[in-house]
Amino acid sequence: MRIARFAVGDEVSFGVVEGAEVAAIAAHPLLGDIAFTGGRFPLDDVRLLAPIIPNKIIAIGRNYAEHAREMGGEPPVEPLIFSKPATSVIGPNQPILYPEKLSQRVDYEGELAVVIGRVCRDVAVARAHEVIFGYTCANDVTARDLQKRDGQWTRAKGFDTFCPLGPWIATDIDPTDLSIRTLVNGEVRQDARTSAMIHDIPNLIAHITQVMTLLPGDVILTGTPAGIAPLHIGDTVTVEIESIGSLPNQVTPRP
Ligand code: MG
Repeated sequence: MRIARFAVGDEVSFGVVEGAEVAAIAAHPLLGDIAFTGGRFPLDDVRLLAPIIPNKIIAIGRNYAEHAREMGGEPPVEPLIFSKPATSVIGPNQPILYPEKLSQRVDYEGELAVVIGRVCRDVAVARAHEVIFGYTCANDVTARDLQKRDGQWTRAKGFDTFCPLGPWIATDIDPTDLSIRTLVNGEVRQDARTSAMIHDIPNLIAHITQVMTLLPGDVILTGTPAGIAPLHIGDTVTVEIESIGSLPNQVTPRP
């Protein structure tokens, strides 16, 4: 199933994407059984929004060996975790706002995102699948110059609009070996498979929940493959993941 959040005019709804249409549902399936309202809309006639507004976003650094090497280091032995604020989330086709006054290098990072389905802590690796609701595309947009200057990553990763998510949440897919690509203005810049992750999703969930409770709707960004590079104002950056869909965003100046 593909669960979307969308707007028609000013009205925001959740829905199930079926082919080229979206069927509206009364509430997010994280909150209960799916109840169709009877409303159906062509996808072309709705504005897709971020499919979830998480309580928190936990991201993984250097989880693909080739990316760790391009960053000038070895992959970490344990998963390296950091967080992005919920206020950084935007949806498909919403602008990434380039903070020109503070940063002169803003990079894309295409990533597979895991959406958590239930309250969980101290999850065993073998039971991690029980706490997953689904998967979506993410872009862990990063002010690379500030990341290096600050020595920790809160500012570099935390700007408003620096966490595009979407286009919807795909449930019932196998995330272990999917094509993941990032395109800038139609040109392929990252091209990898999720099977190249160093720490797989069950291990990430076990590692994170040793530290903190995850809540329904929380999002884990599983790390970016090699091929990161700067974005420029006017670019369109698109993250595409097999069996999920594509997440395009335009880069515009932060007013
Ligand atoms: Mg990242």
